[in-house]
Amino acid sequence: MSAGVIRICCGPYESLAYLVVDDSGNAALIDAGPPAEEILNALGREGASLKLVLLTHTHFDHIAGLQGLSEHLDVRALAHEEDISVLSDFWPLNMGPPPDLKPLDGIVKVGSLSIEPIHTPGHTPGSVCYYVRELGAVFTGDTLFKGNIGRTDFKHGSPERMKESLLKLMELPPSTAVLPGHGEPTTIGAERANLEEYLGWLGA
Ligand SMILES: [Zn+2]
Repeated sequence: MSAGVIRICCGPYESLAYLVVDDSGNAALIDAGPPAEEILNALGREGASLKLVLLTHTHFDHIAGLQGLSEHLDVRALAHEEDISVLSDFWPLNMGPPPDLKPLDGIVKVGSLSIEPIHTPGHTPGSVCYYVRELGAVFTGDTLFKGNIGRTDFKHGSPERMKESLLKLMELPPSTAVLPGHGEPTTIGAERANLEEYLGWLGA
């Protein structure tokens, strides 16, 4: 098996999850939008072994698959502590207790891959992009999309923090693949002009 990324599409919210797999089949799951069946099917199809779940943020459409996953797998889910602390504001009351999340703590090793969390608040206070240098890819959740940026008008959003976060992402190599939480992939280089325009709107 060669290392790579498998895109898992799309539940009722059209949110994307990604399996990041090393050359021995060790996998991390980036986000866990519902339904869990899509994720379990992808794991089975790839013959991959899921080591942990990394959340770009704790909005419902990116984490609601965790409940179904936990019925089949015993796997830790990590998120930024600033999003764990506001999880109860994002989690619908009629869905039972929210999932148990552990705080991120630096670079994450999954098999031979190093996954670097980049704290990119703005869409939510604990939004994180995950950069995998070996794969030349960054998983941007709802912070950066093809031709768009994430909304900052939801509860706990911040345009000021989003501005700082976009500046951070622009420091990545232009060839870096951008794999967002919704929609098509793009690259940092392809989004540069858009990002500069958004930074102008945000007052950078
Ligand atoms: Zn979101």
